[in-house]
Amino acid sequence: MATEIYKEFYFEAAHRLPHVPDGHKCGRLHGHSFKVQIAVAGEVDPHTGWIMDFGDLKAAFRPIWERLDHHYLNDIPGLENPTSEVLARWIWEALKPTLPQLSEVAIMETCTSGCRYRGA
Ligand SMILES: [Zn+2]
Repeated sequence: MATEIYKEFYFEAAHRLPHVPDGHKCGRLHGHSFKVQIAVAGEVDPHTGWIMDFGDLKAAFRPIWERLDHHYLNDIPGLENPTSEVLARWIWEALKPTLPQLSEVAIMETCTSGCRYRGA
């Protein structure tokens, strides 16, 4: 990997974590303003001077963003236990086929708590 670029996205969504101990606050229905950082790695094209157009990165993520924004994450197949770890991997698997240069999916569910996933 020579260079990596990234773009940040935001979405609002509700969730609850079904496998936390009784009384844990994350077991109750609540919402987050999730921040997602999508990174792409590769060689910088000597003519264009970029790895890829940020607009193409945005377009690739758009259908996934639409599945998440203002949805109840637990209802989405594969996100029945929507921790940041599960969500990062779910986004990776949804995005990788259309964005083969994908190098990292980072999720922040609060200003201080996040997760990075770089593939299996
Ligand atoms: Zn939460």
